Amino acid sequence: METRIEHLHALELPTPFPVGPITVFLADAPGEPLTLVDTGPLTHKTMATLEAALARYGLAPRHLERILLTHGHVDHVGLAADLAAASGAQVISHPWNVPALEGDAGEREGRVAFYARILRQAGVPGGIEQAVGQATAAMDGFMRPVAVGATVDEGDVLRLAGLEWQVLHTPGHAGGLICLYEAAGRTLLSSDHLLAGISSNPVVEPPPPGRDERLLSLAVYQDSLQRVAAMDVARALPGHGPAIDDVPGLVARRLAFHRYRVAAVVGALRAGARTTWDVTQALFPGRTPMDTFLAISEVIGHLDLLEREGRIAVDDEDENGGGDAVLWRLVEPEISPAG
Ligand SMILES: [Zn+2]
Repeated sequence: METRIEHLHALELPTPFPVGPITVFLADAPGEPLTLVDTGPLTHKTMATLEAALARYGLAPRHLERILLTHGHVDHVGLAADLAAASGAQVISHPWNVPALEGDAGEREGRVAFYARILRQAGVPGGIEQAVGQATAAMDGFMRPVAVGATVDEGDVLRLAGLEWQVLHTPGHAGGLICLYEAAGRTLLSSDHLLAGISSNPVVEPPPPGRDERLLSLAVYQDSLQRVAAMDVARALPGHGPAIDDVPGLVARRLAFHRYRVAAVVGALRAGARTTWDVTQALFPGRTPMDTFLAISEVIGHLDLLEREGRIAVDDEDENGGGDAVLWRLVEPEISPAG
């Protein structure tokens, strides 16, 4: 991918994940700390490819001075610890990513318990619940904990590639996801918030640090999508795949996709699905454990929207009960013949 910015270079690195390669960005403007935006996952192949890419600019990992992490997913942060150890670079990210990045034991414990509860409430059968739990926990093997030296949040300005970038906190795909916006050139570094070929999963997450309730990931994701669609962006440079020239058009397609999926969820409930797992099975049958997690995550997003709109409700009346599983019922609109 061509960034069309002189001192910003897109480096494509392999990942072992279905999403395919990741794009990280090297910013090498003179008089500015040499910066890498995202790192790729912790694999030998990714590190070797990154070293080869840096070598084309006469650089090595030890030259890095700043590592900016757009969100906490392992494909974006996995090599940060090794790169920081090799270089002494300062690691920067959104405050919500800090506990997970630093390998905080309480965060990990809380996260494992959170996902176990989510899967139980979704009504996922025992064996599958275990496999999904193991698949999500295995993702931790693609990163090493790293100390975060500084945080950036909404409204901050970063100098990068010789330009001023505004930090946008755009939660949804991940709670702590940031985009960077450069107004003069109308460029958005969109990370996984906007991807050309993939509908970003609104990954269900434990509550952000200091909060009691989880974010309604898809609901906040749609708000964050509308936010960037309303901005003056000529070109978005994403974390995977090609650059995006028509941001409002892409956002409109993503929102339409989610409306379609909401209708499919309603259809599944109408056809007799009772639990989140029933709906997931109806929409996405026969998946690998990790895909199952992402499918459940997306279905939870659509159920969140329907519940918030009052179109579904938790069914407390069912005498058979669902054990730990939450049972849903459709709330049909009441249309008065007189009205
Ligand atoms: Zn991600």
